[in-house]
Amino acid sequence: MQRTLAIIKPDAVGAHYVGSIIQRIEASGLEIRALRMVNLTQKDAEGFYAVHKDKPFFAGLTAFMSSGPAVVLALEGENAIRRWRDLMGATNPEDAEAGTLRKEFGTSIDRNATHGSDAEDTAAYELSYFFCGLELR
Ligand code: GDP
Repeated sequence: MQRTLAIIKPDAVGAHYVGSIIQRIEASGLEIRALRMVNLTQKDAEGFYAVHKDKPFFAGLTAFMSSGPAVVLALEGENAIRRWRDLMGATNPEDAEAGTLRKEFGTSIDRNATHGSDAEDTAAYELSYFFCGLELR
């Protein structure tokens, strides 16, 4: 069993896609182990995306992630990290395969509807960024 952090980003929350995306998560067989709506400050977003702090898109990315509410979820299942990333599709919705969430709900590389951890170590960090031990037994 593996856990991963998923985020329904502010663009998708603003466009009322929360229900549709959660439906797709449940239909995929991934278990939702924890779920919460958050309003990140720019500093919160900067901490979350610290690995990208030297990238040219960092300021835009963290401004966007703190521009409105987001929904954070802990997903669990066999190969959950890979499965959630496959369900999301490529980072740029233009490159994402048909049927993926980013193709369906994303509108650009910086407004791509969802986030998913990319490895076990980042999943552990990202889950602990949003959920405490009591929420993730
Ligand atoms: P992810 O794991 O697929 O979300 O991609 P990354 O971890 O590489 O990047 C984090 C987020 O930064 C992505 O989801 C995009 O929204 C954004 N991003 C990544 N690369 C670029 C880029 O080249 N330009 C812009 N504007 N945004 C980017």
